[in-house]
Amino acid sequence: MDVWCAIRTYPKHAVELGNPIPQEPVFFLKSRSTIVPFGQIDTCGGDVHHEIELVLKIGENLEITDMAIGLDLTKRSVQDNLKEQKLPWAQAKSFRGAAVLGDWVPFDARAEYSLAVNGNEMQFGSLKEMSWTPNELLEKLAEWAPLQSGDILFTGTPAGVGPLTPNDVVTASLYIDKQLVLSHRAQCV
Ligand code: ZN
Repeated sequence: MDVWCAIRTYPKHAVELGNPIPQEPVFFLKSRSTIVPFGQIDTCGGDVHHEIELVLKIGENLEITDMAIGLDLTKRSVQDNLKEQKLPWAQAKSFRGAAVLGDWVPFDARAEYSLAVNGNEMQFGSLKEMSWTPNELLEKLAEWAPLQSGDILFTGTPAGVGPLTPNDVVTASLYIDKQLVLSHRAQCV
């Protein structure tokens, strides 16, 4: 099982990090052993940024079967340093505990999701605001990637990313048609 991740799929988030808005989706990989459940987030001394994302599970015919909300945790200062040197990002994106993954529910294109830190909403995502639909993302990835059944795809984060500090309480929520479907909490250490 591989963990694929798309970046800059939300134009507003690309702009907030000073990145260009790509014409084609861009992907990277996290190690599968980075996956941890919600519950506790290691903030690595405050260098970790939250990125809430809709995560898709890929089925036998390389179709989207299920969805979950996840956190593509990012060591932002490490990433900035590596980007500056034009080096790969693994240390910033694939460290221990870097992929927080919630429960799976059947995929629904009406999905929206939010992330709150200490009760304050910091990020809100809607598939309608993404540059590509989930199916378009998957099709673009499948053009060159050795996708397999059971692989998962983080679909990129909306605007509002920011640092987490010890004792923060993170709440990630998933909505379909404005109805709360599930909510996960994590305590930062
Ligand atoms: Zn991300």
